[in-house]
Amino acid sequence: MALITNILNNAAAVAKGMSVTLVEMLQPTITDAYPEGPAKLEERYRGVHVLQRDENGLEKCVGCFLCAAACPSNCIYIEAAENTEEGRISGGERYASVYNIDYSRCIFCGFCVEACPTDAITHGHKFEIASYNTSTLVYRKEQMLTPLPADFKPLVVKQEAPSAGH
Ligand code: SF4
Ligand code: SF4
Repeated sequence: MALITNILNNAAAVAKGMSVTLVEMLQPTITDAYPEGPAKLEERYRGVHVLQRDENGLEKCVGCFLCAAACPSNCIYIEAAENTEEGRISGGERYASVYNIDYSRCIFCGFCVEACPTDAITHGHKFEIASYNTSTLVYRKEQMLTPLPADFKPLVVKQEAPSAGH
């Protein structure tokens, strides 16, 4: 009797399991077709960094080195230079004349993004950067900097004329 009960219980368990399989088979597929199609990434996905510009098209990075100091992998290399009246690159006193990230070392932890006081560095969604040549994994500023739109016109701030009569 115990044997029959055992067989019936096992058969019921198999039937229950197969019913789940059957129900799932009838559901629409949600498998991503990557790499045939684009990968679906969450908004907060941490991919290759993007160096941002402000509303005037100037680079937001002011060459303060805080991101490099916060980086646990020591993979950010920066050289800073002074802005001049003739050549203004960023909104601050200085800008990053060189800004490299070595993606053979980056662990995409986001500490650099958290440390940046000007929101100059953010994570983008680019992730297909695997390479057999590690020297190609050192990304330069020019590869990460947001391009200016073709129709970009910088904001012009009107200077108020000094009031007369005082
Ligand atoms: S994400 Fe992390 S490891 Fe990568 S550059 Fe930023 S701080 Fe360094
Ligand atoms: S990205 Fe941000 S934290 Fe890093 S040097 Fe530029 S302004 Fe400073």
